[in-house]
This record gives sequence, structure tokens and C-alpha cells, in this order.
Amino acid sequence: MAVCSGLILWLTACVPAPAFTPPAATVPPAVFIPTSFPKPTRMFPTSTLAPSATAKPAVPDIPQMTLDVLMDYAAHRAEVKETILYPNRTGDPLTFLVLAVQPNFWQGAFILNSSSVDGAPVTPKLAEQRMEVQLPQVLAPDAMVVLNFDYTLNLPVLSVPGEGQKNLSTFGYSERQLNLAHWYPFVVPYLPGKGWVLHDPWLSGEYLVHDIADYTVHLHFSDPVNPPVVAASGEEIQSIQVGPASNFHHYQLKQGRAFAISASYDYLVSEQEAEGVTVRSYYFPEHQAAGQAVLQTTVQAIQIFTEKFGPPPHSTLSAVEADFEDGMEFSGLYFLSRDYYNQYDGTPQNYATLLAAHETAHQWWFERVANDQALEPWLDEALATYAEHVFLETAYPRLVNWWWSFRVDAYAPKGWVDTSIYDGGKFRPYVNAVYLRGAHFLDDLRGRIGDEAYFAFMKDYLTQMNGRIATKENFLTILRQHTSVDVSDIIAEYFQDPR
Ligand SMILES: [Zn+2]
Repeated sequence: MAVCSGLILWLTACVPAPAFTPPAATVPPAVFIPTSFPKPTRMFPTSTLAPSATAKPAVPDIPQMTLDVLMDYAAHRAEVKETILYPNRTGDPLTFLVLAVQPNFWQGAFILNSSSVDGAPVTPKLAEQRMEVQLPQVLAPDAMVVLNFDYTLNLPVLSVPGEGQKNLSTFGYSERQLNLAHWYPFVVPYLPGKGWVLHDPWLSGEYLVHDIADYTVHLHFSDPVNPPVVAASGEEIQSIQVGPASNFHHYQLKQGRAFAISASYDYLVSEQEAEGVTVRSYYFPEHQAAGQAVLQTTVQAIQIFTEKFGPPPHSTLSAVEADFEDGMEFSGLYFLSRDYYNQYDGTPQNYATLLAAHETAHQWWFERVANDQALEPWLDEALATYAEHVFLETAYPRLVNWWWSFRVDAYAPKGWVDTSIYDGGKFRPYVNAVYLRGAHFLDDLRGRIGDEAYFAFMKDYLTQMNGRIATKENFLTILRQHTSVDVSDIIAEYFQDPR
């Protein structure tokens, strides 16, 4: 969008006829040679073919992603035109970029039709999820390139990972739902001295690491008469809808980590406001009570976490009933499995409530403050799990003891909190170490330094690391700014690397 409008402005500035009339008083006739002025008829082709550098917008602070999506729901297919304005904020000169393309794990799911860098066609190297784009010239620090990709997504069936299969269960379709999750190429983070951060998926846990970016997403459906209900990351911009209102969606998301879309003909939607956030719950018709409970929990959790941690990141948050197992967080959207809606018993003593609070907490710990989800998953998962406790203390204080026994200690958790997804084994031992021992670690830490210091630390950690990718070192450094109490024995008890 920005490139187009820049080009239009440039053209407009060049075309007006008065520019071709030299002021007689200031240009002596002897010097004026009319043929040296380009004729208007030649201006258009020349301008249209002007180097893209002329039309480039200013270098943005963070990547600017534009995704134009034409979705064929019935065929489980989407045609996507993607533009990335990538500013090199790494501090190093770059000769190539590495992008993550998770859909390419499925054969035939990602078909790249064309690619370009600054308008010149390129052929990226694509192997599994790794796409490497050579740059035509070295990209200096604080300079920018414009990447364009045109591709087709053929969605796989949403499936449960089998024994030994890697955990990639959120992208795809079922009989009643289509999910675009980790669906577009994005430039992965780059660490000076270490390089590009793109890990392999594993049996448990998430593995992608996300810098923040600004998103503009346009979504159309190929059947304009009968479009499905859509849940999406970001705020829907109402002003520039084209055609039938429900067949064109224009979303904007500022400083987001991962933009997700879910569509279904079955969704019912309930909505409520909390702390300036429009909260929407999307659920299947047989789960109205659970859908309402998820909405209420999300609203309450936003209120509690705003008070305890700081402001939420976005103006919308959508809770989406997932036709797959477990839950998954995205920017301004989370999925929660239909299994938890099925188990909902009308009380808050169940996973629908606990995990709605957990997934909401990821809007702080994942979205605002990110982490290396593969190597240091505790930095979002332990904080989100212990946030369930923080939620219950205010919302249902009588359930706190039940939570410890039902959610945590029933599993007799063992293992180091700083376990990577690769060292954690299968789902249960991994969760026990990272999530459950992680909750005990944070509770012990809070007990030692006191509530006042603990929550001042949480708020400051959010403020200092907002928009960044935090490490254990960041966590401990900021902790020590809020307490002089010795916590080294607690860290030694829970961390294999207690530095
Ligand atoms: Zn989580």
C-alpha cells in the first residue's frame, strides 16, 4: 500500500503541465531548448518504470507485512500476495535473509509462484521450513529491502500428531474449521554473532521465534455470496470495505508476533469489553455455555493481568474453539481445544477456565515479551501457567489449593525449569518440568521476595522487555533490580544452569 501511494504521489508531482512552461522572466531564450524537456507522452512510461528505490517509503522501525488473501474455503486453498518491508535493524550488513515457511513441511501445501526483491525476480532456496533469499546487494544496517511473494496454500487436514510426530497441529482444516496459523513466510530474528534463529520443530512445545512486525491483512473469499464467520488477529478496519461487508475483511495489527485467521460456518460469537480490549469468543453451537465461560474468563483475566503485569498489547483478543487438541497462542487470538469445551461442567473447576486464563496470559508472555520458545520455553510457559494461579487468587480464591493439587502436584512434577523442547521428552515430562516446576519456581520466588517486589518486578520486566525477545539473563537481571534478597538457592533448585 505504501509503495503504491508513494508512486502515485511521485507521478502526480511529475505530470502537471505548468512544470513544462519555463518562466520567461528568469530563463533567457538563448538557453531554453524546448526539446530537452521530456514530453508528457513519454513521462508516463518512464515514470512507471522508474527504479523502485525512487518510490520507496521511509525505512520503518520494524518489518511491515502486507498479506492479501483470496480464500477458497470449500477447496481449502488460499492465494496470497505478500509484501515485506524489511528494515535491517540487526547492526550487521546482510547478504541474505532467512524466512520461516512452516506450511512447506506439508508436501504441496506451499507453492511459491513468484518472488522478488526490490522489484527484481529472485529464486529463493526453499528446503522444508527454511527459505533463504539472496540479496542483490549487501543490505547495510538500517537500510531496507522490499520482498514480494506470491504463493498458493493448499491446507492439510488438521491432525493429531501421532507417536514420534512433530508438533505442527494448528495449520489446516477440519470439517467445520479452517485455520491459517503460522501460514506466511516471515523473516526470522537475527542475533549478531549467532546468526538467524530458526529451530526445528519437535514432539512437544513451540519452536518458532518471532520479532515484532506491523501487519495489514486483506481477506476475501472466492464465494462472495456465502462467506464464513472469521476470527483474526488484529483490529478490523471498517472504513474501506468493498462489496458485501462480510466478504471483505481488512485487519491491522501493530507490533504483533504472529497473525492468525480462523474461519468456520458454524461459529457463534459473543463479545464483551475489558480494559479497552474487545474480547470475542468464537464457539460451536453445542458449546454455548462453555463459549460464554471462556469469554467471561478471558475478560476477567485481562482485568487481573492488566493490574498485576501491565496493559494488554492489542485492542482485540479472540478466543477460538479449536477443532484440534490443546491450545495455542497467537497475536490477539488464541485457540482452545473443543476437548475443554466438551469437559466444561458449568463450574470454574476445569481446564476450560484454567486454560482460557493461561492462553490470555500469553498476550503478555509471548506477545508483549517474547522468548526463544524452543530453547527457553519456560520464559513464556511457566509465566503463563503461574498466571492461572494469579487469576484464581482474585477471581476464585477458594480454588487456589485445588489448582495446586489438580493442575500441578497430581503429576508429581520433576525436571529442570530451563529445559529446552528438545530435552524435555514427550508431552507430559516436558510440561511437568517447564510448566509445572516453573509454576513452583515462580511461587517460591514470590514467597521469598514478597508480593510487592514480585509484582513490581513483573511490571518492570514487561516494560523493559516489551517488544523484545527476553532471555533468562534479562529475567534475572531485572529481578535483581527489584530485590536484594538472596534467591540463589531457589534458582539452584530449579535450574540446571543456575547462572
Ligand atoms: Zn502456554
